[in-house]
Amino acid sequence: MSGVRRKGPPTGGPRVPRVVTEGRKRKVIYAVVEGESTERDYLGHLEERFGGDPRRFEIHVLWKRKGLKPDEVVNWALEKASELEDPRREQVWALFDRDDHSRVEESCRRAERAGVRVAFSHPCFELWLLLHFVAGVPGAPTSKCIQDRLRAAHQAFRTFDKRLDGAPLAALNGNEADAVNRARSLVTNCPSMACTARNGHGADCRVLDRTPSTDVWRILVELGIVTV
Ligand SMILES: [Zn+2]
Repeated sequence: MSGVRRKGPPTGGPRVPRVVTEGRKRKVIYAVVEGESTERDYLGHLEERFGGDPRRFEIHVLWKRKGLKPDEVVNWALEKASELEDPRREQVWALFDRDDHSRVEESCRRAERAGVRVAFSHPCFELWLLLHFVAGVPGAPTSKCIQDRLRAAHQAFRTFDKRLDGAPLAALNGNEADAVNRARSLVTNCPSMACTARNGHGADCRVLDRTPSTDVWRILVELGIVTV
């Protein structure tokens, strides 16, 4: 008799406990993020506040100290997407923003072709936070402009600088549906006439022309946090 153990559970062993079966239905998001703080803090907050007990979903944030460039975010997301065990319940998202990065357009296309969901923000992720308080920003705002407005929009953000902890996160609470509606309105207001909140950006809508805009709302809808 061979001493090599076969893979897999032994036959005739105990039944898989129900709790494990339940856990398998749970949606799992792997989110590769560009920044080292803000997005990570925010996504952790989403899981904590809306994940429920037992967890309805999990968000695993993949990040690196000192941050990643958009093409590095996408490389990692593609690698992760190739490792998924159950693509029906597992998703890979790539979160990055315009800032002053090059190859944004190409990074988005590569990700989408591979089935990775892109949450792109133009000019920056903080626009998504700002939409919890105000409807929008005229013109083509810079990242600095968005950050200044965010600090002015709510007292809890007055000293905001990348880290999101108790007070700023609490200030977002209850404004999620408004933020989603406002982000959806920005899609409708895209320079390309083909873009709609329901169908997304049109084929001829260049990523770099989508200013201001953010796709982060799609994560909340995907997780059932906000219904549209
Ligand atoms: Zn568009």
